[in-house]
Parts: sequence; C-alpha cells; structure tokens
Amino acid sequence: MLSIKRVPTVVSNYQKEETGEAAAGGCGRNCLKSCCIQGARLPLYAFKKVDKVCGNELPLLGCKEQHPVAFLDSLVLGEWEDRMQRGLFRYDVTACETKVIPGEYGFIAQLNEGRHLKKRPTEFRVDKVLQPFDENKFNFTKVGQEEVLFQLEASNDGEVQFFPNAPIDVENSPSFVAINVSPIEYGHVLLIPRIFECLPQRIDHASFLLALQMAVEARNPYFRLGYNSLGAFATINHLHFQAYYLALPFPIEKAPTKKIAKLSGGVIISKLLNYPVRGLVFEGGHTLEDLANAVSEACICLQHNNIPYNVLISDCGRQIFLLPQCYAEKQALGEVSPELLETQVNPAVWEISGHMVLKRKKDYEEASEANAWRLLAEVSLSEERLLEVTALVFQAITSSVEMNVKPQRLEEVDAVSPNAQHAMVAGSHECLVLQ
Ligand SMILES: [Zn+2]
Repeated sequence: MLSIKRVPTVVSNYQKEETGEAAAGGCGRNCLKSCCIQGARLPLYAFKKVDKVCGNELPLLGCKEQHPVAFLDSLVLGEWEDRMQRGLFRYDVTACETKVIPGEYGFIAQLNEGRHLKKRPTEFRVDKVLQPFDENKFNFTKVGQEEVLFQLEASNDGEVQFFPNAPIDVENSPSFVAINVSPIEYGHVLLIPRIFECLPQRIDHASFLLALQMAVEARNPYFRLGYNSLGAFATINHLHFQAYYLALPFPIEKAPTKKIAKLSGGVIISKLLNYPVRGLVFEGGHTLEDLANAVSEACICLQHNNIPYNVLISDCGRQIFLLPQCYAEKQALGEVSPELLETQVNPAVWEISGHMVLKRKKDYEEASEANAWRLLAEVSLSEERLLEVTALVFQAITSSVEMNVKPQRLEEVDAVSPNAQHAMVAGSHECLVLQ
C-alpha cells in the first residue's frame, strides 16, 4: 500500500479526539447524528432552478454589475460572520497577510501559519481516488450544528424560498453549507451534498450540478467553488466542495485557452495554455445541466481511471477548470525536490488556481512567480499524459451523450499561442467535434 505521512487540515472543531456517545439526551456535542438531530432546526435556502447562466457573453467579473447583491451571497456571508463572532474558527483569517506576487501572472500569496497548527499526522492512502466511506473516520455528520450555516436545495415551485428556522428532514437527504473552521479566505465554507447519505469523496452528476447551481446563485464572480479528489489533497473522505470569496482574479482564470472540442449539448472544451498546470476548461452548453453533465462525466472517468484531479468553478458558474494532477504520486515515489517538500504546501485546487497558501513566513517573504511556477509545474501532468487523459475523457463523454459519435474536424479557433500544439488528442491530429 502506497501511503504518506500526512498532516491533515482540521476542517471542523469536532475533528479531534472523539468521545463516546451518550444514548439519551444527545452526546453533548450537539452533532448531526441521531443522538442530537431530533427536533433540530436550521435555515433553509431553496434556489430557483436556472436553465442557463445568464449572459454567457459577459466578460469575466461582469456579472456583479448586472445584479444587486444576491440573497444567497448575503446569507453565506452573514452567517459566516456570525460564526466568526461566536469564535468558532481556529484563527482569524482576516488577519492573514496576502499579497499579489509581482510578475506577469498575478499569483496570490497568503501567509497562513494557523492552518497547520496542532498537527496530527495520520496515515492517509493517496494512491486511490475512490475509497469507500468509513464511518469510523471523521465525517461531516460529526460536526456541531453551530458549524452548519444553512440547508441548500432546489426550490419545488420554481421560486426562491427562505425559511429561517426549518426542520431538518433527515430522510429527505438535505445538503448543507457549513463553515470550514480552518478558513483560507473570507467566507470559506463547505458544501456537503446529501450529507446524511454519507457519500465518499467522489463526484456524481447530481452533486456537481448542485455545486454549479450554488456558483450561479451566489452571482458573485469573487465566489469560487473548488473540489479536490482523494489523491489530489482532499483530506476527508466525505463528499464536499469548498468555496470562498477572494476579490482578485485567479491567475488560472486569466490564462489563454484553446478550443479543442464542442459537444452536441453546446458545451465547449478548451485546453489551458501557458499555465504551469495543464488542464481542460468547460464552458457554454444549451442548459446548465449540459455543462454540469459534461464536467461530471469527465470527473467520473478520471475517478474510474484512478487519476487524481481538482476542479475550480469560476465566473459565476460559467467557467469550469478540470485539472488532473500527479503531485502525490511523485511525492510517494520520491520525485519531488526537498525544497518543495519543505514548504509543506499541499497543491490543492486553490494553489493550482494561483492562490498560494503558504505556511512559513520565509516562503511568503521569498514568494516569487518563479517559485510558484516551479511548484505548480510539479503538480501538472506531462503534455503527453494530458493527451492520453483527454482522449479517455472524450471517450467517456461521447459514449455517455450518444451512441453514434463521429469525430469531425473543427476549425481551429482561439489559437492564442503560435507554438500551440496541434495534436490535441492521442491518436488524432485533428481537433474533435463530438456530436
Ligand atoms: Zn450527538
């Protein structure tokens, strides 16, 4: 078994040593299990299902002007600040220093010394993207009710609804939004789809659609959702997305792209250019579900092929980055340089997107574009491997969409770099149109 001594980040105040659970009258921790859940209430936000993200043509960061502050946005931040006042976080993230690293890409460095305090090494298996849920390990049903901000669901009648004090219908698989007690930015929360089903960390269609809907519903380009698979620096094997606010563009969002395929549902797939981590970008689609399905199908394919990956949902749900990675594998094989290992930076979705969360003052002070690039380059698949992986993903997407798929030529568009590679898919020297 390939495993690494890992220092997990504590995401809940209840992730520490566990005490035996008392039977009647709750376990004393006001948790989400049957010992404490009866009669519990939480706010419930039911969003209106949208067919499509409004104004696909809008530029990045363009949606803020169009809408006043969305209700979900103020709900997340209002509840989050309330938990801050109540002292539920392990440190004050608003006191963490942040700077934009000078250079072409605008990498963002944050000094976060609190995040790895009280570290508790555990064995964590890193060579398997799919692992069964383990009731005995920490999971989100063990958090305190005060860490949960609200329940999130799609509205039944097509209208936005908010109930400040709704019962928790355990049988009806509610999804929760909770705080991350080790935040890396303002408003850092966790989206835990169908929490009581105790799903392992793996993307499925419905859960990814929910995450995408949350991004759309927040209507704030500074609010991004991210996902780390097992083997790509997820630390808890209970299905969750993360999200937070950062009022800066991420370097990955500014990287040029090159269109490589268009699916029959209108979803456009591009590849990232001129960025240290190679990956795919998904946009468009006739409906929001087209977009969600294409991405989740791609994720499911990576999971089945045991390829660790990260996902970033940007631009109010209009742009989704899919980034297969191999850092943990290299780490286990002893192929990562000691200087990089020493920083203890775990290149998860935020780091890969260009928001470097640094644990040592020295690394923060010496942060440079070259250093950021060097770390992220270690995370990336090789060009050749990405071609193979892209071919696998395309195969999975097309076989799930329709039976008779004919790859066709696509006029090359958006070619930004004159040095752009022409062979986009292994075994083919043409771009593909997947119909
Ligand atoms: Zn309890």
